[in-house]
Order: sequence, then C-alpha cells, then structure tokens
Amino acid sequence: MGSTAVHVRFEGLSGNFLARKWRVPNHTAPFKPFPTSLTSIVVPRSRSLFINRTGDKRRVELTLDEAKTWGIEDQADQELIFAKAQCADRSNRFCLRMLLNAEHSTSDVRSNTFQVYLRLVKDAKFHATHLADFEGLIVPLHYGIITQWAGTSWRELAFTRLNTEANRIVVCRAFEGLHDHGIDHGGLFTLRDFRHAIIDVDAPGLTDADRLNGKAPCYIVDFSNAQADHHCARKLPILPYATFPWYPQVGCIELTDALVMLDLVKCPDARTAASEALAWHAEYSKRYPELTNSDVMIAQRARLYPDMPPLYDAVLVSFESDDLYARAIITRSDEEKAEAEAGVDGSLPDSVTRSQPR
Ligand SMILES: [Zn+2]
Repeated sequence: MGSTAVHVRFEGLSGNFLARKWRVPNHTAPFKPFPTSLTSIVVPRSRSLFINRTGDKRRVELTLDEAKTWGIEDQADQELIFAKAQCADRSNRFCLRMLLNAEHSTSDVRSNTFQVYLRLVKDAKFHATHLADFEGLIVPLHYGIITQWAGTSWRELAFTRLNTEANRIVVCRAFEGLHDHGIDHGGLFTLRDFRHAIIDVDAPGLTDADRLNGKAPCYIVDFSNAQADHHCARKLPILPYATFPWYPQVGCIELTDALVMLDLVKCPDARTAASEALAWHAEYSKRYPELTNSDVMIAQRARLYPDMPPLYDAVLVSFESDDLYARAIITRSDEEKAEAEAGVDGSLPDSVTRSQPR
C-alpha cells in the first residue's frame, strides 16, 4: 500500500493542498501506489506550470496568477494546466494535471472544460485497465491524478537541436511498442498531436550526447482516444527510408502517420530498404507461421538493421544460424537472458545482438 494522500505546496502560495487518491466512477482497476515515503511534494515557483496552448499546442509556461482563472470562461480547444512537482530531495518528479475551478468548470456537461474532465477520466481508466505493465517504460507511472513527470513534449523538442534522427526513431519506437501490445493511441493526425510523445531530456545521469543520440527515456501520454484491440499488421520497421513507403506497404495506419510526420521518409542517406524489408517479412512469416507479428518485427529489425536501435532495449535477440531466415531466439525475461548469455560454453553466440538497457 502506498500513500493515499499527499500534501502539495506551491512556492509563492501560502498553505498546502491535499491531493487524495482518485476514484473513477464505475471503475475498479487499481492505479500505481504512490511511494509510501512521500507525504509532500512541491511545485517550484518558476518553470513549473504549463499548458499546451490553444491552436498550435506548443507548451507555454504560466504564472500562478494566470493559472487561477482556468475554467471560469469556457473556450474551444481547451487544454489542461499541468504542474511539474518534486519531492524535497528532487529524486522524484511528478506531473499534476489540474482541473481548476472544478465546481464551475465541470458544472455544464456541454462545456469544453467538461470535455477536458472527461478526457482525464478516460485516460486514467485506460491506464489502469490496459497500461499497468508498461508504466515507467513507455508510459509514465500513473498514480490516479498525479503521474510520473515525463519530460518535454516532441512538439517542443522538434524546434530544438534535439530534433535528431535518433530521437525521432525513439519516438516511433515507443508507438511501435504500444502497437505490439495491442494499443492504438488514436490521436496522431497532425504534428500538434506529437505533444503526446514526451522525452525526459532532463532525466538524471544523461550526458548531452545521450540526449542527442536517443538515450533519453521516451513516454507516450494521453490515452483518452486509445483503443486496446489493435492487431498491428505492420510489415516495415519504423526507421528512416530513402523512399516514401505509404500505408499499404507499412501495413498500419497510425505507424505510417508516425513515419511520415517524424520525417523518416525521403532521407537521402537511409539504408533501410522497404522492398528488402517487405520481402524478408513475407518469407520469414511464411517459414514460421506460428510466430506473432511482434516477434517477426523484432527479428526483422535485429537481422536486417542490427546497427539501428532495437525495438526493445531489454530484449535479447540471437539467431539459430547465419542463414538470412534463420529462426530468431527472442529472450525477454532476466532468467531467460542469463541462460542465453551463459550459453553452452559460457560465451555469447556470435549472432547475438543487443543494446544497453536504459
Ligand atoms: Zn499498428
């Protein structure tokens, strides 16, 4: 059992607020327990209150005074205000999604602010029901109303020097991970929607090279439009292409959108060849019809593009032989990995590919 309530203090405001565990009506799936040792968190005075502004959805900073009026007047295309909070020793960072002036802003079910409330509820329900196994990996830890702080949205990073190919691949990889687990985000239609892809570029321990080279954790947020019954039929890895593969070749609409909007098409130096990847996918799937498409995609990436970031950092992939279509041995659990790494003579097979875990 974690804490059921936490004191929240805003620097510059007198008094504390008490954040209690949230109960979603008609919903029983549990949220992550809030760390027991944490009884209070602080929202610093500066660079801590934000909103994705109406229109272009760029993240802007607000003052407490500016935030106070949220929800008093209804306006179209409304977004939530969110706060970056931290515990005393700054070892944990949190995101508070705030429905301000709630008595007024949720009083009219036709209002835009009420729709914001509904999205918050849908997102919370979806997290508890479908995402518990991925929290802290490709989605933030979700405590009910407070979540793990996930970082800076791609909508912002796209305008910075961190808009590197490596980081664009990492964003796409997070969506591929969701799809492999049956989840379609349901909200990727324009570049503005990439505010839902968040990279924690300020995570402790990262070097500048790490930030540029796709080593910062990436999380996907806002599952208010998501579907959990997606059977991903993609046949191409979501990597840079010199050509412009379109939906029929990629095999998945949402990931085609990600590929195109993340500028991974028409990359002059790309070595990923759609025709080669499609031919390999068809032959490998034919040889091993019992495999899931997710396993085929993991094997395809490891076999054809071993110098690209793997689909999953924590998964070990080896092959039974050097044959192009040799069966991949995919090792997910720590015990399986220890066995695979030990091998018969205690050495790694030559064909093992793996990357550094996060
Ligand atoms: Zn898909």
